[in-house]
Amino acid sequence: MDGITRFAIIGLGLIGSSIARAVATDLPDCPVSGYDADPKVRDTARRLDLCARIDEDPAAAVADADLVILCVPVGAMAAAARAIAPGVRTGTIISDVGSCKSSVVEALQNALPGHVVIPAHPVAGTERSGPEAGFATLFRNRWCILTPPDGTDPANVARLSAFWQALGAQIEVMAPDHHDRVLAVTSHLPHLIAYTIVGTASDLEEVTQSEVIKYSAGGFRDFTRIAASDPTMWRDVFLGNREAVLDMLQRFSEDLSALQRAIRWGKGDELFDLFSRTRDVRRSIVEQGQDDPREDFGRTHD
Ligand code: NAP
Repeated sequence: MDGITRFAIIGLGLIGSSIARAVATDLPDCPVSGYDADPKVRDTARRLDLCARIDEDPAAAVADADLVILCVPVGAMAAAARAIAPGVRTGTIISDVGSCKSSVVEALQNALPGHVVIPAHPVAGTERSGPEAGFATLFRNRWCILTPPDGTDPANVARLSAFWQALGAQIEVMAPDHHDRVLAVTSHLPHLIAYTIVGTASDLEEVTQSEVIKYSAGGFRDFTRIAASDPTMWRDVFLGNREAVLDMLQRFSEDLSALQRAIRWGKGDELFDLFSRTRDVRRSIVEQGQDDPREDFGRTHD
């Protein structure tokens, strides 16, 4: 690929290990060096043969890289960027995969002044974490959103885009604050709602825990998948995207109150209209290839 052939991945969990596997599959001639703060994760990464080299020192891991991708929780981005700073060469592109962008752009630029920083967010993942959870096809046909700071050389944006495209992703470029508002409603708020529902159900006194689990196919179990997501990652996302999440939560609370009123006053038409619109949203997601077209997420019922 144009000018970038050696990669370094800092943080070898679900996303970092998936990038390493995808590079091995899609860019087999490009060596990857890796580092994770957790020695057990480094050992697992060596056992899984995830990278050409796993270093004991983050600065050594990035020393010969053309592209460094930070794959750590967003609250750890500043520390990870400071730790690689002594080893980063001039001209190396520093990117990340964090789920919120305004706070990460600031953290990376402060930690790596004078370096090429182009944050990114692959909108792809699962509720699992750690190096064994990753897989090479995670990014195929998924969006990767780049949020280059003003003044970024378009040639570097093109290089980073080409990297993600080689892994099967489609590219969108947007401002960090716009990214944060879009993801607040499409990802962060749904996680907050799932965490709330699962928490509420497990706190109920009149419905037993075993009943909640036994009858979960009524809808509850689909929330539990999201609510099983990594606590560290999601704590950091809500703190890192505080303003946009609180804004969307306000809108959501108002809409929820309107629904409450419609139920209380028997306004069936209002409920029917909303439920018809939401069904169309699901159809569009399936039509655009962003989910399995089979009913019930493709679960088998035999
Ligand atoms: P993960 O599986 O928990 O992996 C993160 C790894 O980074 C862990 O092994 C962690 O070690 C390590 N780490 C923490 N601080 C570090 C540091 N300062 N230096 C080096 N390594 C460090 O998390 P993930 O799901 O891959 O998420 C990584 C990033 O991707 C997050 O920013 C998240 O917002 C973003 N993202 C996640 C998803 C998703 O669905 N999971 C999707 C898109 C983007 P310890 O466990 O010891 O802390």
